[in-house]
Amino acid sequence: MRFAELADGYERLEATTKRLEMRKILSELVKPLGAEELPEVLYLSQGLLRPEYEGVELGVADSLARRAVALATGEEERSVAEQTKTSGDLGSTAQELLTRHRRLGDVEPLTVAEAYAELGRIAAAKGEGSQDAKVRTLVELLGRSTPLEAKFLVRFVLGTLRVGVREMTILDALAEAFADGSKEARARIEEAFNLSSDLGLVAVELLKHGVDGLGRIGLEVGRPVRPMLAEREPTLARVLERMGGEAAVEYKYDGLRVQAHVARDGTVRLFSRRLEEIGAQFPELLAELPRAIRSRPTIVEGECVPIDPDTEEIQPFQEVARRRGRKHDLERLREEVPVALFLFDILLAGGTPVHQEDFPARRRRLEAIVREGDRVRLATQRIVRDVDSATSFLDDAISAGGEGVVAKSLKAGSSYRAGARGYWWIKYKRDYTAGLMDTIDGVVVGAFQGRGKRAGRFGAFLLAVYDPKKDRFESFTKVGSGFDDAQLAELPRRLERWQSDERPPEVETGIAPDRWFRPGLVLEVRGAELTLSPVHRAALGAVRAGAGLALRFPRFTGRYRDDKGPSEATTSHELLEMYRAQVRHAVSETPPTSGG
Ligand code: ATP
Repeated sequence: MRFAELADGYERLEATTKRLEMRKILSELVKPLGAEELPEVLYLSQGLLRPEYEGVELGVADSLARRAVALATGEEERSVAEQTKTSGDLGSTAQELLTRHRRLGDVEPLTVAEAYAELGRIAAAKGEGSQDAKVRTLVELLGRSTPLEAKFLVRFVLGTLRVGVREMTILDALAEAFADGSKEARARIEEAFNLSSDLGLVAVELLKHGVDGLGRIGLEVGRPVRPMLAEREPTLARVLERMGGEAAVEYKYDGLRVQAHVARDGTVRLFSRRLEEIGAQFPELLAELPRAIRSRPTIVEGECVPIDPDTEEIQPFQEVARRRGRKHDLERLREEVPVALFLFDILLAGGTPVHQEDFPARRRRLEAIVREGDRVRLATQRIVRDVDSATSFLDDAISAGGEGVVAKSLKAGSSYRAGARGYWWIKYKRDYTAGLMDTIDGVVVGAFQGRGKRAGRFGAFLLAVYDPKKDRFESFTKVGSGFDDAQLAELPRRLERWQSDERPPEVETGIAPDRWFRPGLVLEVRGAELTLSPVHRAALGAVRAGAGLALRFPRFTGRYRDDKGPSEATTSHELLEMYRAQVRHAVSETPPTSGG
């Protein structure tokens, strides 16, 4: 495929905000592709070169790209910078300049494969002289591209390719292009993706062997599985009811979710909730896991929490951060404070895939394979059949430093549901007991200039929840409390890379902030209650026509959810469930009117 066709597709994708149309454009783009180009096109369209978990980065800074555009077009760097101020982005500037300065000789049209290979070369350039090498490759690439191609190539290297296709839309397009487009086919494709986290791999299997061939994609050490997620219920009684009167309850450790892959040779790789490789932060786990896991290769999951080295007590990351002062950021803390990993699940046991086994069987496997020590332990668990024992277990969990419990279904069908949130796992936090609402992880999509003491800075932020069905970010609150001076000072820097001149197409809101941001940064907030709102768009129309859900009196908890990407933020559906739970709670709390 010529790269020009892909660029043309991107142009059309950019012009639409309708998911159905996006799916159609994408599916037409990928349909004619073979097994070589298909994964390349899929990665490129997400702004990637490889599946996201591999963490391959281009390493091209703005200044570097500007230099390349200047060299490729014969303009002064200063003038490129000036023009970018007007055009809004360097990609558009490159497009304009190439249109003006075209010196098209007999250059061969660029193919997708060539563009992909060159971009790969840019990413691979490391160490001394690499900056120059990156610029040279980019200049050559731009020298061969049409103005439209140049626009998207430049945006790609800068990490600002905004064609708005996220994973869920790509899965839709794959189902349409390579299967019958049915719900069932779509679900099976998504399942394969949840297990492998690699859209390119899934697409190639689908192309070669059809939907039925997707079963060939199994677990592989080093390839993270998208995590199974929990629903919530407002009371322990309801939790038990949901589970059919019986459940395994476990301490809910308040730390960082870790998926540990222990290879046959003892090499360990750790992945975060959003599948980033984080092993380097936890050398003690890398050292301890091969000893703690009796049989390999194995994939286990657990929560990593700081431990007081003297008392061996669990401490929440937040607590430790507060004690040491705000300046000490969480990343550094994780490097300095000793941690323990509390394992709660197993997916691959000594080479045997066990993710499809029911939870009780998996727990037995986990107990058999783990040799507990200081750093690697099993999550504390109890089987409960009544609310009293669940409540006393919750008390134990809290006094041991947990933030609540996670109840797990023991029923047939309680397999590991990769990437899915369901009632097979239900979280119940101590806060619910105190009548407090659960925290919400909101994505920053806008900011408001501060006034008074906060003049010259941002004073508040517009937050959104995610709707995976629509692939949209819907605003639900404007938060200004809970930020200290240091955080307000650093937020513009944290948000910089997501700045946008206009409302990003995937953002839905009735509010106009002073600045827009593409969905990127996730903040944890807590509020007093959820209400209906004419301007917010979360779960729009679900409770009342024309009304969205809004969080009243929101407050930043101080916790950046760097372990979550924007599509892992709280969903509109979860917000709606919280709203319903709150209404039910209000009804049950209303004292019965006495008959006199
Ligand atoms: P979610 O993961 O549901 O999107 P979240 O990341 O905000 O939300 P929580 O609401 O705290 O997390 O609840 C689920 C998380 O609890 C899991 O992802 C996991 O990191 C953590 N956790 C702690 N202990 C356990 C346990 N015993 N079993 C399962 N998960 C646990």
